[in-house]
Amino acid sequence: MKKGDKGLKVAVYPGSFDPVTLGHLDIIHRASGIFDKLVVAVLVNSSKNPLFSLEERIDLLREVTQDLPNVEIDGFQDLLIHYMQSKQANVIVRALRSVSDYEYELQLASLNRQIGAGVETLFMTSNPKYSYLSSSIVKEIARYHGPVQDLVPAPVERELHIKYRRKG
Ligand code: ADP
Repeated sequence: MKKGDKGLKVAVYPGSFDPVTLGHLDIIHRASGIFDKLVVAVLVNSSKNPLFSLEERIDLLREVTQDLPNVEIDGFQDLLIHYMQSKQANVIVRALRSVSDYEYELQLASLNRQIGAGVETLFMTSNPKYSYLSSSIVKEIARYHGPVQDLVPAPVERELHIKYRRKG
């Protein structure tokens, strides 16, 4: 945050959230306690082939963050730094689960700071309970009807069952 900035401190937590896991939710809870407002920004992401549509990912995030009044859920397709300007946000929240996350995240953060004129990235270390967890691992387990109740919020577990029952 630049010196002399007035008004609300708004941060953006961007990601695919396909679907939101307990690891993501832990970061959302902790980050919402730091900023006046946290925008969880769901990437449209044309390069990946998501299991959940943008609307489904947004609806699930809204359902599981109902208890957090300063959290807004939104979708975006723009360059992240342009999106940040439209939200009057200048902090990006990202999480680090392991050393292997670091290299890619460092590249992203450095680029965003350079092209985003002062946009800072705040890294939060993931809760060790969830540091092994990713949306792709959850989908892999659910595809084979394995137990996911300790990995995702209940509404996500419900939707995963529906997806894989229909597809199966
Ligand atoms: P992306 O495709 O941008 O990596 P993800 O939805 O996988 O989108 O992740 C979004 C953010 O959430 C990233 O900063 C990622 O490091 C973080 N994240 C992913 N899984 C976890 C987890 N288990 N615990 C904490 N943070 C996580």
